[in-house]
Amino acid sequence: MQPFVFERVDSPAAAVRAAAGARSGSATQNPVQYLAGGTTLLDLMKLDVMRPQGVVDINALDVTPLGRIEATRAGMRLGALVRMADAADNPSIRRDCPMIAQSLKLAASQQIRNMASLGGNVLQRTRCPYFRDVSYSECNKRNPGSGCAAMNGFNRDHAVLGASPQCIATYPGDFAQALMALDATVQTIGPDGGRALRFAGLHRPPGDTPDVETALRAGEMIASFEVALAPWMRRSLYLKIRDRESYEFALASAGVALDLRDGRVADARIALGGIATVPWRARAAEDALRGQAVGDAAFEEAADRAFAEARAATHNAFKVPLGKQTLIRALRDAAALEI
Ligand SMILES: Cc1cc2nc3c(=O)[nH]c(=O)nc-3n(C[C@H](O)[C@H](O)[C@H](O)COP(=O)(O)OP(=O)(O)OC[C@H]3O[C@@H](n4cnc5c(N)ncnc54)[C@H](O)[C@@H]3O)c2cc1C
Ligand code: SF4
Repeated sequence: MQPFVFERVDSPAAAVRAAAGARSGSATQNPVQYLAGGTTLLDLMKLDVMRPQGVVDINALDVTPLGRIEATRAGMRLGALVRMADAADNPSIRRDCPMIAQSLKLAASQQIRNMASLGGNVLQRTRCPYFRDVSYSECNKRNPGSGCAAMNGFNRDHAVLGASPQCIATYPGDFAQALMALDATVQTIGPDGGRALRFAGLHRPPGDTPDVETALRAGEMIASFEVALAPWMRRSLYLKIRDRESYEFALASAGVALDLRDGRVADARIALGGIATVPWRARAAEDALRGQAVGDAAFEEAADRAFAEARAATHNAFKVPLGKQTLIRALRDAAALEI
C-alpha cells in the first residue's frame, strides 16, 4: 500500500474542501478518495489498484441527513452514509418497495452490510480479476491505453450488454439495479454547491474511456438518493442468481416492479444486474409488457427484447439464456405476489 494523507471531517463543506484537487470521473486515478465503510476502498488500496494520495473519512457525517432514511412527499430519501444493513431492515422500505430491501439483503455478507454504506455501494468497482490484479499490465480501466486482458482471457463473469472494444467488465452491485428501475435521483454536494442528477446518468458505459466510470465532478460527494414511490411498487422484488447462495456477486439478477390492472400490465419497471457494464434498465422489455395480458407469453417476449442486443465473449454466452430465465422468473414471482 502507498503512503497517503488521512483526514477526518465533521461537515459536508469540510469534506468537499478536503477533497479539492480530485479529478472527476477517473475513479482509479483520483488523488483523493472519500472513506465510508472502506469495504471496497481499503481492499483496492491494499491490492495497489487504487493509490490515492489522500483519504477523507466522512463517517462523522452520519449524524447529518447523510446518515438518515427520511420519508418525503413523493417517496423516500436514503442518505449516502446509511449502512446497507439498516436500509435492508427498514420496515417502510421492506413494505413500500421490497425490491430495494431485497437488493441490499442479497448483497455481500451481514458483516459487510453492517459496515458498508449506500453511497460506497453504488460506487464500488468491478470484480474483473484482471483489474484487481496489478501483475496484469493490460487493463484499460486501471491503466488507460494498455489493452484488455479479459477480451482474450477468462471472461465467464463479464458483460454481455453495454461492453465496448476497450472493456467488457461487469458492474457488480445489486442496490444500483433497484435505483435504476425506480428512476431514482442522486443528490450531491460539490465545490460548486449541490446538484441533483438522474441515477441513470451516474454510471458511464465504458466506451473509449473505461477508467472514467461516473459523471461525478472533481471532489463531488454523494449526499443521498431520492426515490419516488407509487402504491403498486409494493409488487416488486429482486431476484439474484449466483454461483453459491452465501455471499457472492450476481451472475444474473432482475429487479422488477409491476402495476397490474384487470389481468394486464399497466406499467413495469425492470433493471438487470450481473450481465452489463453499468446498472442496466431494460426499457425495451418494459415497453413490450405494457398493455399485455399477464402470463408467460408476455414475460418471454419481454425477456427476448431485453437481450436482443446481447453480445457474448468466449466464456459468457450462458449469461444470455440465464439472464432471460432470471427475468421471466422474476416477472412470474412478482405477478403472483399478494399486495
Ligand atoms: C466479499 C465481498 C462480497 C461482496 N458482495 C457484494 C454483493 O453481492 N453485492 C453488492 O452489491 N456488493 C457486494 N460487495 C461490495 C460491497 O457491498 C461494497 O464494498 C460496499 O457496499 C462499499 O461500501 P463502503 O461504504 O464500504 O464503500 P467504501 O469502500 O468506503 O468506498 C467505495 C468507493 O466509494 C467512494 N465513496 C464512498 N462514499 C461516497 C460518497 N458519499 N460520495 C462519493 N464517493 C463515495 C469511495 O471514495 C470509494 O471510491 C461485496 C464486497 C465484499 C468484500
Ligand atoms: S474487462 Fe475492463 S476491467 Fe477487465 S481487464 Fe478488460 S479493461 Fe480491465
